[in-house]
Amino acid sequence: MSQSAGQNPETVDGPTQEEFVAWVQEFLSGLESVDRASNRHWCPQWWAHTEAVDRLAALHTQWLVATEENSMSSWWVDHFDRHATVLFSPHGPFGECGTHHVDKGARRTLAAEQPPAGWSW
Ligand SMILES: [Zn+2]
Repeated sequence: MSQSAGQNPETVDGPTQEEFVAWVQEFLSGLESVDRASNRHWCPQWWAHTEAVDRLAALHTQWLVATEENSMSSWWVDHFDRHATVLFSPHGPFGECGTHHVDKGARRTLAAEQPPAGWSW
């Protein structure tokens, strides 16, 4: 790999938020394996679930790589299937999200309290 200071056309910028959202919508439109009948959960307001956003962003990044490398089968098995196990699980980010979020602030993240005075590790 050259460290040329000139323009490097092989440098791939990360996807923009717009591209990411478009990918999620496009990808979901073809997804048939996630429904309540199979006890797999989803939320239309996926963007309100921080863990889901991180996982989907990671999937998108790898999807771009797999498209470039023509390795989509591995993407499905090694990336999608493994994230899907957590992502759509009853215990995953969407598991207890049955209805639409009333406001954008609705999140179900883990709380982390300050350790008590005198605590050390
Ligand atoms: Zn939700």
